[in-house]
Amino acid sequence: MRMKNRPLIILALIFLLVIFIAIVLTPLYKKVPRKIKPIIKGRIAIVIDDWGYHLDNLAIAGGIKQRMTCAVLPGLKNSPEASESLHKSGHEVILHLPMEPKGNLKLEKNTIAINMGRQEMRRILDTDLTEIVFARGVSNHMGSRLTENREQCKIILLEIKKRKLYFLDSFVTAKSVCAPLAKKMGLRFAKRDVFLDNRDDPEYIKAQVRSLKKLAQARGVSVGIGHDRKSTLLVLKEMLPQLAKEGYQFVFVSEIARVEK
Ligand SMILES: [Zn+2]
Repeated sequence: MRMKNRPLIILALIFLLVIFIAIVLTPLYKKVPRKIKPIIKGRIAIVIDDWGYHLDNLAIAGGIKQRMTCAVLPGLKNSPEASESLHKSGHEVILHLPMEPKGNLKLEKNTIAINMGRQEMRRILDTDLTEIVFARGVSNHMGSRLTENREQCKIILLEIKKRKLYFLDSFVTAKSVCAPLAKKMGLRFAKRDVFLDNRDDPEYIKAQVRSLKKLAQARGVSVGIGHDRKSTLLVLKEMLPQLAKEGYQFVFVSEIARVEK
C-alpha cells in the first residue's frame, strides 16, 4: 500500500516544490516598471517684459513654478531689486535694453539710438549689465527704428556676443534685421512669436496663450512675450500648470536660443 502511493507522493512533492519556487522567484522576474518618458507636446518660452517700474507683481511671479524669462529694464529705481528677486524665484533674468523706436514715444534714459557711436553704446551696455548682474541674455525694449538699422544693430549685437550673452528679438517690426545679422556673426538668437497681452484683458490673454500652445505643438517650440502686469501674471499662474499637465514643457530662452545654421 505504502509503496504503491510513493510515486504519487513524490509527484505531489515535486509539484509543491515547483509552486514554491515559482512563488519565491516570481518577484525577481517581475518587470521593473520602466520610467515612462513623458511625451512633450511642445516647448514654450514665456517672457515677461518691463520689470523695474515697480515691485507689485514679484510675489505672483515668485508663485509661478514654471520657467519664465524676465526682461528687466535698466536704470530704474526698482531694477536691481526686481532682478534679484526674480532670479531668486528661479526665473531667468535678461537685460531689457531700451532701443530707439519710430514715432514719439516716451524714451527711457540711455536708450540706444540710431545716431550713437560705438563707444557710447558699449558704455551703456556695460553700465546696464553691471546693474542687471544676473542677465543671461539681452532683449530689445521698443526699438522699431533701431532693429531695422543694419549698421547700429550690428554693433550692438556684436557687443552682446562678446559678452557671451544671447539676444532675444522682441520683434517689434517685421523689417527687423536682427535674425540675419545674428546668423552671420554666430550669435545665439531667439525671436518672439506671440505678444500675449496687447490688451489688458484676461480673456484676450488666455486666447493668446492658447495660440502660443498651438504654435508650440505645430513647430516644436514657441516664444510668447507678456508684460509685468497683474492680469497677465495671474492668467499665467492659472494656465501654466494645466498646460504642463497636458505635456507642454516650459523652458528658458537660454534653452532655445541658438546659432542659426
Ligand atoms: Zn519693453
